[in-house]
Amino acid sequence: MPATSSNKPYRVGRSKTGLGLFATKPIKKGTRIIRYYGPILDSRIPEHDDIENKYLFELNGRWTIDGSVRKNLARYINHSCRPNAESDVRPRERKVFIRAIKNIEPGEEINYDYGTDYFKAYLKPIGCKCESCEKKRKKLRAEARTERAKVRARAERKAQKAGAKPAKKKKLNGVAVGKANGRARA
Ligand SMILES: [Zn+2]
Repeated sequence: MPATSSNKPYRVGRSKTGLGLFATKPIKKGTRIIRYYGPILDSRIPEHDDIENKYLFELNGRWTIDGSVRKNLARYINHSCRPNAESDVRPRERKVFIRAIKNIEPGEEINYDYGTDYFKAYLKPIGCKCESCEKKRKKLRAEARTERAKVRARAERKAQKAGAKPAKKKKLNGVAVGKANGRARA
């Protein structure tokens, strides 16, 4: 694990999906936490345009930061659909900073929204593991469980009814019997 200097308000640590960046000190909303750092790639240079890794941070149509370098601890920040930080993109300076959009407590994982393109390309196919999506999935699973329990209970009630009144069931099965009864009664 890379060393993190102690005067920084973050450290690299284990997260649910691998490694992540965690607050070690309270971080106030609006604070610049860390710079997303790396060599600047120019899409007009073919060798630059050929570089492909999941740490590329596109500044605009031309400039991209290659964040795959070891020094760039910001690359450990995971995506979240409901993040506590955001990327402050400055194409003219060719810089990106990660800034807190909420007060972040020590121990909390820092995350930002990677954006729609990244989400579609990398996260949607495997299912987003962010806390917000996990919660949504949990809720859906709970709802499905409740629904299954309801269906089961209904089936059990039906079976019990059928067991208690076998005569009625016979009548229901045989249409001809019902008709005959009706005619006989009339
Ligand atoms: Zn998510």
